[in-house]
Amino acid sequence: MPENCNACERSETASEALSERGARLTDLRRDVLQTLHHSPKPVGAYELFDQLKEAGKASAPPAVYRVLDFLVEQGLAHKLQSLSAYTACKSTPHAHEAFFRICRECGQVTETAVPASLKDVAAQDEFIAEHLVVEALGLCRECQESTL
Ligand SMILES: [Zn+2]
Ligand SMILES: [Zn+2]
Ligand SMILES: [Zn+2]
Repeated sequence: MPENCNACERSETASEALSERGARLTDLRRDVLQTLHHSPKPVGAYELFDQLKEAGKASAPPAVYRVLDFLVEQGLAHKLQSLSAYTACKSTPHAHEAFFRICRECGQVTETAVPASLKDVAAQDEFIAEHLVVEALGLCRECQESTL
């Protein structure tokens, strides 16, 4: 592993956040975090399972699903509903909602905070919004240029 790799560093920070919370840092949890942080685009659960298997890290799909759910719960990963895929969280390691812009060409995901105005709309008519999914699918700047 290269020494000053940003993805490794972020993955390490996420692992530390788990330990600080008293959560058990199993090999699989660590491996999934590593894989998510090194993936340039969101990964589906099965794809992730295949990657782990190829890397010689044996596991079973249900175990991978459980780890993904756990990481999402912990705010260390997000599930992108429109892609049914997972991405490592690049902001605060606590459960939070986020607004995602997803490039349909290169798969690059940009995470930003959900605007307060949107939360207000979700809470109208005393509606209790338990889960807010805000995803924009489109083309990033680089991909717009390369399709011209
Ligand atoms: Zn790395
Ligand atoms: Zn996040
Ligand atoms: Zn793109």
